[in-house]
Amino acid sequence: MNKPTRLPLLFLGHGNPMHTLSENRFTQLWQSLGQNLPRPRAILVISAHWMESHFALTGQAHPPTIHDFSGFPPAMYQLQYQAAGAPDLAAQLQKRLPQWQLKLDQEWGYDHGTWCILRHMYPDADIPVLQLSLNSQASAQAHFQLGQDLAALREEGVLIIGSGNIVHHLGRLTQQTQAYPWAQAFQDQFLEKLLARDFAALIDFEHLEQANLAIPTTEHYLPLLPILGAIQDDDDLGVLNQELEMGSISMLSFIADLRNTTEQGK
Ligand code: ZN
Repeated sequence: MNKPTRLPLLFLGHGNPMHTLSENRFTQLWQSLGQNLPRPRAILVISAHWMESHFALTGQAHPPTIHDFSGFPPAMYQLQYQAAGAPDLAAQLQKRLPQWQLKLDQEWGYDHGTWCILRHMYPDADIPVLQLSLNSQASAQAHFQLGQDLAALREEGVLIIGSGNIVHHLGRLTQQTQAYPWAQAFQDQFLEKLLARDFAALIDFEHLEQANLAIPTTEHYLPLLPILGAIQDDDDLGVLNQELEMGSISMLSFIADLRNTTEQGK
């Protein structure tokens, strides 16, 4: 049997929570990732929808499903994602990474940044899930560095997913199909820096052009940073989706995965 080598990393745009009730190109992407990636032993999700004043991990054996939105149809409030938690892994991480003072949280659970996606990726909810919070007191650089320290988990069968949106301006949502030029321009610039691996520019996002419009608040951008931090030099980057929806939301999603070197590696 092959030992698990290194699991990929994902940054997934989640966008409108209603996607989760649909069958569309976004949910199909999530489904096919679940079907095609090596099966993880646990999943660590960094969601835009959990911000604390410290870094926290869900510490429960059975985290509840949180319906952290308002004004959606009743079906949205009935959704449950009943994957087990991973309290042992949470406790281990707390011990292994004392520099981050990770707190084990007993109150949060799976918010919609997590379950909107996971119920399509892993509909049987049979893989334990941990959520890691964002930290309102920590810099973008710190979120990146935390990702560097989490990268070793990839060799231990843990799939790390960032769930957010790199362009997210709810105040500018529109029914027009055309994205705002500033949203498109920000995403184009983002992609160029990403593929050039200019992560310093993406950490220093406030200085990117149009950042004030693309990132009026940081919570949907920050989940990207630990993912960038966990990328290794011998990972390939693959863009999974680069659609803009409702004018001002980028669904940009990408995967980082160990470069295939089987030919030279043997
Ligand atoms: Zn969101």
